Amino acid sequence: MLKIENYIGGNLVKPVSDNYLDNFNPATGEVYSLIPDSDERDVQAAVEAAKKAFPVWSKMPAETRHDILMRISALIERDLDFLAEAESIDNGKPKTLAKTVDIPRAVSNFKFYATAAIHFASEAHETTGQAINYTLRQPLGVVGCISPWNLPLYLFSWKIAPALAAGCCVVAKPSEITPMTAYLFSKLCIEAGLPGGVLNIVHGLGTRAGAAIVTNKDIKAISFTGGTATGEWIAREAAPKFKKLSLELGGKNPNIIFADCNYEEMLTTTVRSSFSNQGQICLCGSRIFVERPIYEKFKTDFIEKVSALKIGDPLDDSTNIGAVVSRQHLEKVLSYIELAKEEGGKILLGGNRVDLSDNSYNNPKSKIQNPKLSGWFIEPTIIENLPFDCRTNQEEIFGAVVTIQPFDTEEEVLSYANSVRYGLSSTVWTENLSRAHRMAERIESGIVWINCWLLRDLRTPFGGIKDSGMGREGGFEALRFFTEEKNVCVKFS
Ligand code: NAD
Repeated sequence: MLKIENYIGGNLVKPVSDNYLDNFNPATGEVYSLIPDSDERDVQAAVEAAKKAFPVWSKMPAETRHDILMRISALIERDLDFLAEAESIDNGKPKTLAKTVDIPRAVSNFKFYATAAIHFASEAHETTGQAINYTLRQPLGVVGCISPWNLPLYLFSWKIAPALAAGCCVVAKPSEITPMTAYLFSKLCIEAGLPGGVLNIVHGLGTRAGAAIVTNKDIKAISFTGGTATGEWIAREAAPKFKKLSLELGGKNPNIIFADCNYEEMLTTTVRSSFSNQGQICLCGSRIFVERPIYEKFKTDFIEKVSALKIGDPLDDSTNIGAVVSRQHLEKVLSYIELAKEEGGKILLGGNRVDLSDNSYNNPKSKIQNPKLSGWFIEPTIIENLPFDCRTNQEEIFGAVVTIQPFDTEEEVLSYANSVRYGLSSTVWTENLSRAHRMAERIESGIVWINCWLLRDLRTPFGGIKDSGMGREGGFEALRFFTEEKNVCVKFS
C-alpha cells in the first residue's frame, strides 16, 4: 500500500516514529494509502531545514523566486487531470469539480503570487523639510501553514504561495483526512527546483503534528484555515508567544433572495451555492431567505432542480454530488438532520444516507477487487419551517443541508442574517441597485456577493468577521501578513 512521505529539507522522508495513519477513499470506504503520523520531532526537523534555507531564499532576487513559483504553477497545470483524479479519490468530490475548480485554482494561486512577488512595494513618507521615512517589509522567517480537507490543494496553495513569494520558508500541514495532493505537490516542488528546506510538508494529526507547528518557538506566524474551535485553540496557544495569526474559520452563510431578482440566474446559482462539493465549502449559503411573494414558486422550482442532481461515482463525469469526506463527517451531517426534525423542521427533500453499494466504482486502480461504492453518500437536503434562531440555523453543519425561510422586509431579513456567531460570506439577489448597496453595507460578513456566488478575484481581501476568523488573505494583504514592517527614518542633512 502506498505510504505517503513527508517533504523535509528537499527530500521525501518517513516519519521519525515510522507510524502511519489510515487514509480512506470516501467513495468506497476503503483504506487506500497510509499517512505519516508525524510528531514534534518531524516538525523540529522541518523547522531546522527551513531555518537553514531562509537566508538564501529571503535574499534571492524577487524575479528568481517568481521564476521558481511559475515553474511550480506550470507543473500543476501539466498534471491537472492526474491531480484532479487524485483529489477526487482522496476527498470524494466529483472529479469534474476538482478539474474545473480545485486544481485550476491551485495553478492560479501560484501564478498570482509569483507575479505579486515582483510587484510588491512599500511606502515612503516625507516629514516635510526634515526627513524621509521608508518602510522595509522583511520576510518573517519560518512560518506555519495549516489547511483543511474541503478544498485540499486549492487552500493549501492559497497559503503556501504567498508565504514563499514573500520570502518566508514554510512548514506546512495539510489535513490528515485529505493528504494526497499535498504529497503529489511536494514531488512537483522537487521537479521545479525549489531549493531544499524552503517548503517543508509534515503530514499527520492536527492534535500532534499541527499542535507542534503552532507551539514551535521558531515559527513566527501561523496561517490557519479550519474550524472555529481549532482556531480558538490556536489563538490561545499563539497569543502568549506573540505569533502573527491569520485565521480563516467556519461560516453559516445567508443567501438572501428578493422577489425582484433575476430569477433563473438566482435559481441555477443557488443550487450550486447550496450543494457544490456536497455543501462542504466554507462559502456555501446554508440559510436561504426568500421574499414571501416568490417563496412558494422558489420552493417548487428549487426542489425540482435539486432532485435532478445525480448522486454517484465521483469519477463519473455525469456525477453532481459525490461522497462526504469521512464517516465521522457523514454521521455529523446526519445528526444535524435529526436535530432539524426534533426542532420541528419539515424535510422537503433528501434527509437520508444513500446506499450505492450495488454500483461499481470507476477507478481501476482501486486496491480492492471489483470495488463498490460502499462509502459515504448523503442526499442533498432541503428543510423548511425552522425559526432563524434554532440550533440547525445557528450552527455550522458543513454538508449538503440547507434551510429555506420566507421574509417580508429588509429589516427582518437582516436581523435573521446577522443573528449567527459567524460572518464569513453572504449572497444577495436583487435587481434594485440601492437595496443591494444598502444590504451590503449592513450585512455582517467579510464577503458579500451581489447577484453571484464564488466569483473570485484573487486581488480582493478574503476572510471573515465575528467567529469566522481574523485577518485577510488574498492580494498584497497576504504578502503584508508574511512580512514585518520596519520604518527607517533618515534625517535630511
Ligand atoms: P479542523 O479545524 O478540524 O482542521 C483544519 C486543520 O487544522 C487540519 O489540517 C487539522 O489537522 C489541523 N488541526 C486540528 N487541530 C489542530 C491543532 N490543535 N493544532 C493545529 N492544527 C490542528 O477543520 P476541518 O474539519 O479540516 O475543516 C472544516 C472547517 O474549515 C469548517 O469549519 C469550515 O468552515 C472551515 N473552512 C474555512 C474556510 C475559510 O476560508 N474561512 C475555508 C475552508 C474551510
